[in-house]
Amino acid sequence: MAFKSTNPFNNKVEAEFDEHSENYVQSAVERADGAFHTWSKESFSYRSKLFKSLAKYLKDNKEHLASLMTLEMGKIASEGVSEVEKCEWVCEYYADNAEKFLKDELLESDASKAFISYEPLGCILAVMPWNFPLWQVFRFAAPTLMAGNTGVLKHASNVPQCSQAIEKAFIESGFPVGVFQSLLIGSDKVEALIDDDRIKAITLTGSEIAGSKVAESAGRNIKISVLELGGSDPFIVLSEADLEKTARTAAKARMINCGQSCIAAKRFIVVERIYEEFLAKFVAYMKTYQPADPSLKTTNCGPMASKKFADDLLKQVEESVENGAEVVLGGQRVEGEGAFFQPTILANVQPGQPAYEEEMFGPVASVIKVKDMEEAIKVANDSRFGLGGSVWSEDKDQALEVARKVETGAMFINSMVASDPRLPFGGIKKSGYGRELSHLGIREFVNKKTIVID
Ligand code: NAP
Repeated sequence: MAFKSTNPFNNKVEAEFDEHSENYVQSAVERADGAFHTWSKESFSYRSKLFKSLAKYLKDNKEHLASLMTLEMGKIASEGVSEVEKCEWVCEYYADNAEKFLKDELLESDASKAFISYEPLGCILAVMPWNFPLWQVFRFAAPTLMAGNTGVLKHASNVPQCSQAIEKAFIESGFPVGVFQSLLIGSDKVEALIDDDRIKAITLTGSEIAGSKVAESAGRNIKISVLELGGSDPFIVLSEADLEKTARTAAKARMINCGQSCIAAKRFIVVERIYEEFLAKFVAYMKTYQPADPSLKTTNCGPMASKKFADDLLKQVEESVENGAEVVLGGQRVEGEGAFFQPTILANVQPGQPAYEEEMFGPVASVIKVKDMEEAIKVANDSRFGLGGSVWSEDKDQALEVARKVETGAMFINSMVASDPRLPFGGIKKSGYGRELSHLGIREFVNKKTIVID
């Protein structure tokens, strides 16, 4: 199997790489397992120094790393730079806070002393997606490695250059051999890795189907897994919303990464009293997104990551329209070689349509009119996903009531859902389980050992 870097802007294959051999994979896992025995015993300050150098490396190589993302999955230049900056932040954050998050935790008991000791597990396998090719990896690696584990990465097959650039970043920042490695392997090799005794736990960010396969193998092996899967986040607009700000943010929240974000707002649930006014403003803001060359700093809407993804999205739109959805804006691919899709708004979205039932992983907004707040909550919860969501109202009590009743891993009031190293991140229902980031994220891949002294 060859891994191809295909530029979604023009569909040209820019580079090809051979898959790593079985021997290479075996030695990489051996190196990771071996490195664990020394890495896990190093002090927090030693590990912290290395993560600070990694943050500096990212800062010094920002433009180059951003351009790799543009080349391999079409990320627009400005978002690429921000993504690298966020990776610097998560490295700094865990360099500064890991020791505090993992210090012994005293417990009340009948013994003279009892406490929890947080101890690393060993080599952790990360299976990652292409949509935030750097951020997804660093938000796993910074807490996991600061806790004393080692890591091997199986990145998405369409971003081999990003995958290798990440490994290079660790090596050039001075990390010992084996602490972090990237494997160029297909998804058919993941199961055997999970079966390997030297792999102690698994994290996957990706689709529901890949998540369930990985969880199945992890369960069979009695290993911990963390799953960060798809989402169809509700964006709930109530009568008391500041409609200008809400509509402007609605477009931004839908169009981030050309709509290919798990926490992008996807279902816009709007109460009928302000429906027409909101929709008109939303259309106007969505029109400001113009598909163009992603490498230009002025571009605000790039191509999707591949022609196949754009074609799949078109099928979902067409099937929704056949079943009653109305195209208010866009609705088509953009002609030409690039994987472009017009910024799109579908109204009259109803149960039974893909735009209602499925994740729309591209620049397509599904708008749903509801009678009132109660119906908004009901519709928001009528989804098998439960990642994030937002609610928009100047009546903070009302917004809080909605936030508490919507079934998701996170709710934002009057701001769009965004990940932040300081805040727990993760979903419920088919959006997965476990948490990344914050003090919770660093406690996923550790043995929470109880020690009792009589
Ligand atoms: P995907 O097809 O599931 O791929 C994600 C990763 O899983 C890739 O490395 C892929 O490898 C691997 N994979 C696929 N099938 C597998 C299997 N059967 N066993 C083991 N590994 C397997 O997802 P995607 O299309 O790249 O990403 C989009 C999805 O990710 C969306 O649903 C999105 O919402 C979700 N996502 C979730 C989060 C979150 O934090 N919750 C963040 C970002 C994205 P190959 O590339 O080699 O197939």
